[in-house]
Amino acid sequence: MAAQIDPKKCTMCGGIVQPICVEICPDKAVRVQNGRAVITEFLCEDCNECGIACPDKAIKVTVDVVTF
Ligand code: SF4
Ligand code: SF4
Repeated sequence: MAAQIDPKKCTMCGGIVQPICVEICPDKAVRVQNGRAVITEFLCEDCNECGIACPDKAIKVTVDVVTF
């Protein structure tokens, strides 16, 4: 699985040009497409860096082993 962005929660970091999730992803798995942040699943390593950094808590990393 890869990280999932909930488009209902994501505000594109308030509309900045380079959103935090795009900036922070070590695998360059997040890009902006048609004004939305999109995750390229095969690049994502489920590290959850984006999930931690997202100000809107819009990103979920669905890995079975993750416990909170
Ligand atoms: S960090 Fe969160 S709010 Fe910002 S663009 Fe990414 S998913 Fe959207
Ligand atoms: S979970 Fe990690 S690898 Fe996947 S999109 Fe987020 S920052 Fe990138």
